[in-house]
Amino acid sequence: MKIISINAGSSSLKFSLINMEDESVIANGVFERIGIDGKYTIKFNGEKYTEDVQLKDHNDAVNILLEKLISLKIVNSLDEIEGVGHRVVQGKDLFDKTVIVDDEVMEKLESIKHFAPLHNPANMLGIKAFQKALPNVPNTVVFDTAFHQTMKPETYLYAVPYQWYEKYGIRKYGAHGTSHRYITEVTSNLLGTENFKLISCHIGNGASITAIKDGKCVDTSMGFTPLAGVMMGTRSGDIDPSLLPPVMEAENKDINAIINDLNKNSGVLGLSGISSDMRDLEDAYNKGNERAILTMNKYARRITDYIAQYYVLLGGADVITFTAGVGENSPLVRKLVCDNLACLGIKIDEEKNQVRGKQTLISTEDSKVKVYVIPTDEELMIARDTLELIKR
Ligand code: AMP
Repeated sequence: MKIISINAGSSSLKFSLINMEDESVIANGVFERIGIDGKYTIKFNGEKYTEDVQLKDHNDAVNILLEKLISLKIVNSLDEIEGVGHRVVQGKDLFDKTVIVDDEVMEKLESIKHFAPLHNPANMLGIKAFQKALPNVPNTVVFDTAFHQTMKPETYLYAVPYQWYEKYGIRKYGAHGTSHRYITEVTSNLLGTENFKLISCHIGNGASITAIKDGKCVDTSMGFTPLAGVMMGTRSGDIDPSLLPPVMEAENKDINAIINDLNKNSGVLGLSGISSDMRDLEDAYNKGNERAILTMNKYARRITDYIAQYYVLLGGADVITFTAGVGENSPLVRKLVCDNLACLGIKIDEEKNQVRGKQTLISTEDSKVKVYVIPTDEELMIARDTLELIKR
């Protein structure tokens, strides 16, 4: 049984072909510059295949992908593909779990696409391309927001006029839900129970912290969009919106240009003036660069703030997990955050904390909270959900 996980963006389409018997990745890759010129990279059997090809639209990308699966002998026949799972960024409050795509689902997706204008329409193009190319294979949609649908109104509402919520759907939706759900499952297996309090830190270029009790999301740091919460690679995280008008006036920018600055030119990149990449920031920090030290301390402080807030919200925590690019690979960030949390009796083992990209318990035996590094796997979660639904 083979399943494809798809993450379609406006000009790219990432795929992972997974063998569900042992959950191994058979092949993965990316189709890029769709609608511009086109290029694909496919990794299979330790080889990397790259070619510049004309990709007018997402249909071209899917057709060439399926062609390559055969010609590179990744599969013998397309009949081996039994399902395609698609990552969708925003499901609003219309979707609280993964579903099989039908006309009603596509209509609902159409009705909410303006809530994630850069992402949802692209996700839908990916779905339509597979519906066309493999008409007999079921597609599923796996939402970044679904896991967070268990938040209570007192958590997901903003203290703004209530009509904004009623009329325009203004509320916290969160993101990275598939990753936080995967981490919750792995933690549950590690602890051998479903009943625990977990603070899950997904810290990549985008970053979100989620408070989870007994497998359900209680609160999460991202908001109406992924701009909210902690400081990220290029995103500001939470700010006071009243700072916008003076900057707009001084820089002669409209609201879209300013929101673009908050999304693309802020965070680690904006504050350090060095790079959005944690590896570059760490280099500069280790060389004693003052702005890098300031940025690193602020970065760790913002993550600490959310962990501390959720520790109180949950009435304590059994486990804190670190995942995604920074969370899995930066001993420095983990150390700074955990040192900030020392007053809660949280202690990490310096040596164990040197781990990169490998599941490891990094807290000491006498730490009041267990701290784990757990690599995330959103593609596998998408494939598992798809398998679960098509088996029924
Ligand atoms: P993600 O969005 O999860 O793919 O994470 C990407 C980010 O992870 C990069 O921009 C880097 O900031 C960070 N990252 C990746 N590898 C390392 C590493 N070895 N050390 C520190 N940060 C890393």
